[in-house]
Amino acid sequence: MSRALSAAVAIAAVLAALVIVANTALTGIQLGELKLGPVLGPAADPNFVPAGAPLGQIGSDPDDPSDPWSAAAPPGGVIVQTAAPNATGSLRIPIPKNVPTGPRRVAIQAGHWKSDEAPDELRRLIPETGAEWEGVTEVEINLDIAQRLSVILNSKGIAVDVLPTTIPVGYVADAFVALHADSDGVGENSGFKMAHGARRGPYEDALLNDIKDSYGAGTGLDYDPIHITNSMRGYFAFNWSRFQHAVAAHTPAVILEMGYVSSDDDRALMLDRADLVANSIADGIMKFLNDTPRSQIFGHDLVVPAFPSRPSRPSSSP
Ligand SMILES: [Zn+2]
Repeated sequence: MSRALSAAVAIAAVLAALVIVANTALTGIQLGELKLGPVLGPAADPNFVPAGAPLGQIGSDPDDPSDPWSAAAPPGGVIVQTAAPNATGSLRIPIPKNVPTGPRRVAIQAGHWKSDEAPDELRRLIPETGAEWEGVTEVEINLDIAQRLSVILNSKGIAVDVLPTTIPVGYVADAFVALHADSDGVGENSGFKMAHGARRGPYEDALLNDIKDSYGAGTGLDYDPIHITNSMRGYFAFNWSRFQHAVAAHTPAVILEMGYVSSDDDRALMLDRADLVANSIADGIMKFLNDTPRSQIFGHDLVVPAFPSRPSRPSSSP
């Protein structure tokens, strides 16, 4: 055998061995009765659903592209746990792999900022540029308060991401606060509003209540529970089952409508006393972080109710 040929045979043997190793890593190896599974964490579970794969029904109209038919698994995937046949069961969301290390990390989203840069899955947000009243735009208020809040939190040793409309895929932090300001179109309503999503971690009520208390006390604004909307509770950034560009389910996340730009008093507060507004939010975030260690937020997999399974589509043929 020539030297070149024996080298080629040796390379072929190595490649064949690599293929066997790779296949074993994916499928596990069967040794008689003993099945040695691949060591891939949650992904090895037979009920693991990878990122982006369907999870159940959330839409009501399969023919309406703006009403997606199926929930999808978030980055990192989920494990479907069904108690009994036809039971809805639950979803287990593994602890994210990219839990921050170092200083506590908080995201402040400036609502509507750079909405024109939304990715395809969020294209319906592109024309949603926010409220406007007497030449004052909501987005300029949101961004101004977000930047002031970032400086205040930095001075307390907190790492801050000021985020635009587009959230990084599967975003993970110790807390996420979306800032908005509302308009009622007539100038009558005053006050602030808050909400969080569903099928998320257990610390969102605490984050919401800490900010609600500090914001109300600091600004003197009344809380306006009557006008909290489904679009606040179903805010796209909370909606990991529908969008990959959403805040990871473990990350405590709330939306704060800081006041009404359409109210003369609320608008004056947000424009002329912006530092007070920012400090009032910062106080609530700091209380939450001090009361809620990172090890607690990211200590366990989350178990949330599953989505209903997909009913069979009515046949269009007679
Ligand atoms: Zn808004």
